[in-house]
Amino acid sequence: MDPYLAWIDSQQAAMETLLVDWASINTGTYHVAGVQHLANEVAGQFEPIAESILRLPLPNHLETDNRGYATPLPLGDSLVITRRSDAPLQAVLAIHLDTVYPVDSPFQKVDCTADQIKGPGVADAKGGLVVLLYSLLAFERYAAETGDRRLGWRVILNSDEEIGSPSSADVFARYADGADFGMLYEPSLPNGNLVGQRGGSGNFSIIARGRSAHAGREFAAGRNAVIAAATAANRLHQLNGRWPGVTVNVARIDGGSPYNVVPDVAIVRFNIRYPRPELETEISAALDEIVAVAEEGISLTLQGKFSAPPKLIDERHAALLQQIRGCGLSQGLDLQWEPSGGVCDGNRLSALGVPNVDTLGVRGGEIHSVNEYMWRASLAERAKLSASFLITKSLAGK
Ligand SMILES: [Zn+2]
Repeated sequence: MDPYLAWIDSQQAAMETLLVDWASINTGTYHVAGVQHLANEVAGQFEPIAESILRLPLPNHLETDNRGYATPLPLGDSLVITRRSDAPLQAVLAIHLDTVYPVDSPFQKVDCTADQIKGPGVADAKGGLVVLLYSLLAFERYAAETGDRRLGWRVILNSDEEIGSPSSADVFARYADGADFGMLYEPSLPNGNLVGQRGGSGNFSIIARGRSAHAGREFAAGRNAVIAAATAANRLHQLNGRWPGVTVNVARIDGGSPYNVVPDVAIVRFNIRYPRPELETEISAALDEIVAVAEEGISLTLQGKFSAPPKLIDERHAALLQQIRGCGLSQGLDLQWEPSGGVCDGNRLSALGVPNVDTLGVRGGEIHSVNEYMWRASLAERAKLSASFLITKSLAGK
């Protein structure tokens, strides 16, 4: 094992250069040209160790506009890269190419200090992308030199994670299916710890449609959609406290009209977080109840779904976390895991029956802000953690 981990240490400078290059490419989710550019660069880096590289165009994301109509938003491609798909033990490694910073964000520049790299997506998740690549490069050096062919892998790099993976969910369903375990490269917690259990999440909207009318001449003929939306928002907010651990966040109300018109459309947008999958049924029933009660002349339509089911730490997840912890200990890392209310594609893998550890990326912090940073030393540190885990799994076989 040691020579392969030593090789990773020798690659620290190359990893840093690659991270700076990749973070300098803007890959805001809707910046399709940027995502395509990064997908090309990344595919080139995987070429020496890949048996196949699939470039998968994603269907447009449909977003409800302020009039309640679906607007198609194009997305960049996702990548699926495989090696030894016939091996008895199959790993799925995944992370996203997109970031939360749009092409016109003021945060574009990448800066290096003695210990850190600061820049858009350096922790979430391009640092993780570099870690993923180098742990596989090291693993393939091991496999080539020892002839060990027990472990095959597929890498899924999606391009819409920062908007909840609406279009790449099908890519996971297809290519993660049947994998024995999953490794996801979201950043670790700032203290270096991993995330264990995660809550579930769903984004929804209620579209209220009424009837417009002149506010002076025919007020009574109008049916006010803004009031209907406000009433629905209030009822949604009252769901807080009904089930332990469930939160309903009314995030935005869009719609309305000029002062002198009774508004005919308004949209309430809200997010639900929940701790256990079986709550989905009860929560859905409560939402249906809210849209079922509308005044004469008003229609309420519910859109959206629970997109990331809760990730619970069952026996298989706990065993995986313990194995990662063991690999960490042998390198002087005392890794613990903590629950999180945030969701990621690890929720999705769990729902597909693939136990996974989802914070194997770099140590960093202030993600989704203009102060995002990562610790340079964590590139080699975390790549060694993953590589040793892959070698250990391969040695153990199925
Ligand atoms: Zn992320």
